[in-house]
Amino acid sequence: MAATQPTTQTADRHRVVIIGSGFGGLFGTKQLRRSDVDVTIVAKTTHHLFQPLLYQVATGILSQGEIAPPTREILSSQKNAQVLLGEVTDIDLDAHTVTSQVLGRSTVTPYDSLIVAAGAGQSYFGNDHFAEFAPGMKSIDDALELRGRIFGAFEMAEIGATRGENVDHLLTFVVVGAGPTGVEMAGQIAELAHRTLHKDFRSINTRQARVILVDAAPQVLPPFGEKLGIKAKSELEKLGVEVILGAMVTDVDERGIEMKFKDGRVERIESVAKIWAAGVQANPLGRTLSEQTGAPLDRAGRIAVNPDLTLPGHPEVFVVGDMINLDHLPGVAQVAIQGAKYAAKEIDNRLKSKPSAGPFHYFDKGSMAIISRFRAVALIGKLRVTGVLAWLMWLALHLIYITGFKSRVTALLHWAVSFIGRGRSERTTTEQQIFARSALSRLKRGATDLVSDPGAYDAARAMLETTRRAELEERALEEARLTDAGERGVPVEQASSVG
Ligand SMILES: Cc1cc2nc3c(=O)[nH]c(=O)nc-3n(C[C@H](O)[C@H](O)[C@H](O)COP(=O)(O)OP(=O)(O)OC[C@H]3O[C@@H](n4cnc5c(N)ncnc54)[C@H](O)[C@@H]3O)c2cc1C
Repeated sequence: MAATQPTTQTADRHRVVIIGSGFGGLFGTKQLRRSDVDVTIVAKTTHHLFQPLLYQVATGILSQGEIAPPTREILSSQKNAQVLLGEVTDIDLDAHTVTSQVLGRSTVTPYDSLIVAAGAGQSYFGNDHFAEFAPGMKSIDDALELRGRIFGAFEMAEIGATRGENVDHLLTFVVVGAGPTGVEMAGQIAELAHRTLHKDFRSINTRQARVILVDAAPQVLPPFGEKLGIKAKSELEKLGVEVILGAMVTDVDERGIEMKFKDGRVERIESVAKIWAAGVQANPLGRTLSEQTGAPLDRAGRIAVNPDLTLPGHPEVFVVGDMINLDHLPGVAQVAIQGAKYAAKEIDNRLKSKPSAGPFHYFDKGSMAIISRFRAVALIGKLRVTGVLAWLMWLALHLIYITGFKSRVTALLHWAVSFIGRGRSERTTTEQQIFARSALSRLKRGATDLVSDPGAYDAARAMLETTRRAELEERALEEARLTDAGERGVPVEQASSVG
């Protein structure tokens, strides 16, 4: 019999369903902790994810646990919140239900108010096959796969060099996309090659590794403005990163990438480890919502929402964060956090019959990108900050937003190891981290094919029982026939030839 837990959720309380346990989902749920509502947070991972630090997991600075604490643990003391694992596959705005799936198990969750905070995925601009050879950086799986590919490339280069082979393609790392993620990733791979690994290998000189940052745009960090873009580029070059701008990636395969320049020139870079940090595509749930409300989607799949973040004709449904297209708001954590808190407050106001706070207003707290240890750029309003000061601001801000005291302390220790020393505490990689994604993608229904669906297991067992029973009956009949015919026993010559 299945064990059941007493729940503090009651049948007649207002039901808020929140889709996603990222920045929007988590902060929206927490905002409702004192409200007279039952909150169900449905997310396809069991953890909350601090995406801005994924690149540090990929380059061995932090462990995945530090940036991805269990949502259930974070919300364990919030009695009005229940956490449900599942990938939402349908939202029925008329029936007020959300349908989620996990490994063949389907759950329908009814709601009175809904907050959709399902974020965005990687966009390969219509070339999804690039993903096989150049993983993006959106999830813990991505970061661990990239960690395996980056450290694995150095390992393979060492073997190749020992055998006298050319290993240039193994020691060339290409990062596509010169936004904050691409810049941070390129900077960290360069530090890895030049500072961390150079004493660890015997046949290769890791300091000769090439780290190349490619973008179709004419500058790095376009949202930070020209001056900070130039500063960031020169800092990257000081680190030994080659920055190639105005180059559109036209092909990616196992051994390299091909780029086309504005003057028509086509160049190929031989590289095994490639990282895709260009382009985002809003969650496909936006399309479901668009089809039911007529709210248009932009090219990145983001849905146009009302100024109060609700959907046309559905004041009970809020969409927040990376999924929305409103007033050119950027896809950053603060848009999701502030939007989700706003939506939660609106729900609470309605229940208390208080007036609405009016349209959602985003307060821009600024942007920053770390280039390497002690080097960062920050844009706060019109103020530009660079160098050590920007880096210290980055450090303080990230410490505040990392969830949980334990994670903050261990992250601080790992930063000390990597930034004051030259080590990386999290260099463990496995073959499965690198190859499991490709293997799973070959299964028709992904991981669902590895476990039996409920019902399918019972059906399979019943079939097995029937077959076994038939076999037993057949054997019993044969035994009876042999006994009746006096044919029992095995002839001596036949028995001695066995084995
Ligand atoms: C590598 C990287 C670096 C970044 N760096 C910065 C930075 O430095 N500063 C900054 O401000 N922003 C940064 N961002 C952007 C920032 O992380 C996002 O803007 C923010 O996470 C958006 O929050 P969200 O709640 O909309 O979505 P997310 O935080 O992405 O959360 C989406 C949630 O929905 C869940 N989900 C998705 N689909 C489903 C489904 N079908 N069913 C159930 N659950 C689902 C996901 O598992 C996840 O829990 C970065 C992003 C990335 C990827």
